Amino acid sequence: MRTNLKAVVVGAVLGVTGAAFAQGTPAAPAAPKAAAAKPAAGAPAASGKTEVTWWGHAAFVVKTPGGAVLAFDPWFTNPKAPQGATWPEAVDAILVSHGHFDHVGETKALAQKTNAKVYGSFELVSLLGLPEAQNVGGNVGGTFQVKDATIHFVEAVHSSSYQADPKAPSQYAGAPMGFVVEIANGPTLYHAGDTGAFQSMALIAEQFKPTVALLPIGGHFTMDPAQAALAAKLLKVKTVVPMHYGTFPALAGTPEALTTSMKKAKGTFKVLTLEPGKSTPL
Ligand SMILES: [Zn+2]
Repeated sequence: MRTNLKAVVVGAVLGVTGAAFAQGTPAAPAAPKAAAAKPAAGAPAASGKTEVTWWGHAAFVVKTPGGAVLAFDPWFTNPKAPQGATWPEAVDAILVSHGHFDHVGETKALAQKTNAKVYGSFELVSLLGLPEAQNVGGNVGGTFQVKDATIHFVEAVHSSSYQADPKAPSQYAGAPMGFVVEIANGPTLYHAGDTGAFQSMALIAEQFKPTVALLPIGGHFTMDPAQAALAAKLLKVKTVVPMHYGTFPALAGTPEALTTSMKKAKGTFKVLTLEPGKSTPL
């Protein structure tokens, strides 16, 4: 998401959610809601399976069979975020694909609340202002272990800058990235971050054999459904979870269009459309 679109985006957000974002971006994270009546979205479940909860946009919480809780791009105040859901109480790792506000989201507040470590590009992680002990900055090619989850940093074709202060210019935030997460006794997930389709997705397939891909389909800033269908073929995944669509009018791609494009491209993957806030076993 480019800086010069923030006004439009903030307008869209305010139009939907009211005051949550009133002080501009990327500051003013919403205060964590107290754990109360509703179970936390992404809360541990005793199924022994990997469970994924979509928080809208590119934000997901994944719970592994071994008890690792991973939060991806936690913009928990996005217009599609589940209404009334509480933040996860315990998080081991926050994975941030790049520095744009709609992906960094509430990373800092969530890290402060849960003491989770933050994984992302070295430059971006260094800009967040968290204690050194919580910073796990790396780069494409890096591999990190979190309980039963093996996290690989992979390429994304996008841009990345971070604006800590809305009145100051954006700062260089390193390379944008995607993440492949190999889960023991579970699927191998690929969260693409923001990206266009690129030929090296075939290399990701060869290296890691992902089974489930979380792919942006909104277009404008990322792949659209037709490109995502080709990406899924390069990745050789069985399942595609669409993300980064419908948040604002510019992100016009739909899961239905992805299914149509898949058929046209003779793809065989399943389109798994998640409902924000609902925990789904993988
Ligand atoms: Zn972006």
